[in-house]
Amino acid sequence: MEFGELWKTALADIEINISRASFLTWFKDTSVVGIDEGRATVSVPNGFVKEWLQNKYNKFILRAIRNINSEVKEVSYIIGKPQTNQKDLMKKALVPLPKTVAAKNEASLSSEFELKDLNIDPETSLNPKYTFDSFIVGTFNELAHAASKSIVTKPGIYNPLFIYGGVGLGKTHLVQAVGNEIIKQNPKTKVKYMSSEKFMGEIVEALRNQDIGQLKEKYRAYDFLIMDDIQFIAKTEKMQEEFFHTFNALYEKNKQIVISSDRPPAAIATLEDRLKSRFEGGMIADIGEPDYETRLTILKVKAEKSGFVVPEDILEHVAHTIKNNIRELEGALNRIILMSKMNSTVPSLEDVKKMLNQIIYAPRKFVTPKKVIKAVSDFYDLGEKEILNKSRKKEIVKPRQIVMYLLRDELKCSFPFIGEKIGKKDHTTAIHAYKKILADLKSNLDLEEEIKLIKEKIYSS
Ligand code: ADP
Ligand code: MG
Repeated sequence: MEFGELWKTALADIEINISRASFLTWFKDTSVVGIDEGRATVSVPNGFVKEWLQNKYNKFILRAIRNINSEVKEVSYIIGKPQTNQKDLMKKALVPLPKTVAAKNEASLSSEFELKDLNIDPETSLNPKYTFDSFIVGTFNELAHAASKSIVTKPGIYNPLFIYGGVGLGKTHLVQAVGNEIIKQNPKTKVKYMSSEKFMGEIVEALRNQDIGQLKEKYRAYDFLIMDDIQFIAKTEKMQEEFFHTFNALYEKNKQIVISSDRPPAAIATLEDRLKSRFEGGMIADIGEPDYETRLTILKVKAEKSGFVVPEDILEHVAHTIKNNIRELEGALNRIILMSKMNSTVPSLEDVKKMLNQIIYAPRKFVTPKKVIKAVSDFYDLGEKEILNKSRKKEIVKPRQIVMYLLRDELKCSFPFIGEKIGKKDHTTAIHAYKKILADLKSNLDLEEEIKLIKEKIYSS
C-alpha cells in the first residue's frame, strides 16, 4: 500500500480523536515518507509542528499507524517540504515490510483526503464537501435538519439556531451545509464559519497585537455567522464576553447566527446566564443517535459513493456494532475499502469483525482512573483536586459519585481501590456511590445524558 493511503487512513483515525481545528492546524502538510525497521517517519512542514506532534499527538499517531501496520513501533518526525502526489512509491507498507524506499521528493502525501479537507474557502472557512445533498436525514436529526433548511429559506426566522448533539453525529456537517447553501443561493452574503477554538485563537492573537478593535469590526461585518462547538467558549469569561458582544452586534442587525454545541445551553454549566437566555430565545434543536436502519443507509450511501461494492452482511455488521458515531461508521467503512484495495478482494466478515474489535475495544486499554477523573472534572468544570477532597457540597458530591461509578462500571476497579483513589475513602463509600448513581440512572434522563457525554470524552481523548 502506498504511504499516502496509509497516512490517509491513519489521519481518518486521528481526526476522530482530536478537535477539527487542531486537526487542520497540526496535520496539514504532513505525510508519511518512510517506514523502516518498525519506525515510521512522518514529514512535517516546520519545527513548531514537529515539536507539537511529538509532544502532544505522538500517542494518537502511533496508535493510528499501528492499527494499519502493527509492525510499526515508533514514529519519528522530520521537517520536509510538503510532498506532491506520486504514484506507487511503496506498495506494501502494510504487510511484511520491505526495506523502506526512502521517499525523497515523491511520497504520495497530498492524499485526496487532505486536498479535500483543506479545500476550505479562505473567505468563509466553509468546506464545500459539507452539503445538504450529502446529509442523510432520519428521525434522529430531522428537527435539526428542518430548522437548518428553514433558516436558509428565511434567514432570521429562528435566531440564533442552536444545534446540539454528541460527537461525530453531524453537527459540523449540518451547520456548514447551511453556510454552503446560503452562498449558493446568494453569493453576496457574507457568511463566516468559525470553530469556537479558532475564534478564541483569533481573540488571543488580536489581544497580543492590540488590534482587537479591528477584529471586532471584522466580525460585525458578517451577515451570517456560524459558530461551531460553542461549549469551548464557556471555559473562560473573557471569551464569553467577546462572543457576547459580537453576538449582540449581529443579532441587533438581524443577522443570522448558527451555533453548535455538544449539549444544550442549559447544560453548559459555566455559560453565562445572559448568553444562555439569548440562545434560548432562538431555536434549539438536537441531533440524537441514528437508529440501526439509518446507520445502514448511511453506510450504503457512502459505500456506493466510494465506488466499492461492499457486501450487505458486512455493512449490516458494521451498522450493528457502531452505534453512536457517524464519523466512526465512516472510519470503519474507509478501512474496509482500504482492506479491499490492499488485497484486491473484499475482506471476509471475520476480518471485518477483527478489525472492528480493534477500533472499538482497543481505546479502552488506554483509559486510566486519572483520565476518568479528568473527564468528569472537566465536564463539571471542577478542579481535579476539588473532586477528590472531602467537600459535601452538592455540586461536588455528584461528580465525585460519578467518578466512582465510572471507575467501577467502565474500568472494573475494585471498591477498595476506588475508595483509595477518591481521596482515601472507605470502600463502603465507593459502594454507596456506585449504587446511588445506578439507581438514579433508572429515573434520571439528564444524568444518563451527562454520563454518556463524559464517556465520549473519556474514550475520545
Ligand atoms: P460533529 O461535528 O457532530 O462531531 P461531523 O459533522 O464532523 O460531526 O460528522 C462526522 C462525520 O460524519 C462527517 O464526515 C460527516 O460528513 C458525517 N456525517 C454526519 N452526519 C451525517 C449525515 N446525517 N449524513 C451523512 N454524513 C454524515
Ligand atoms: Mg464538529
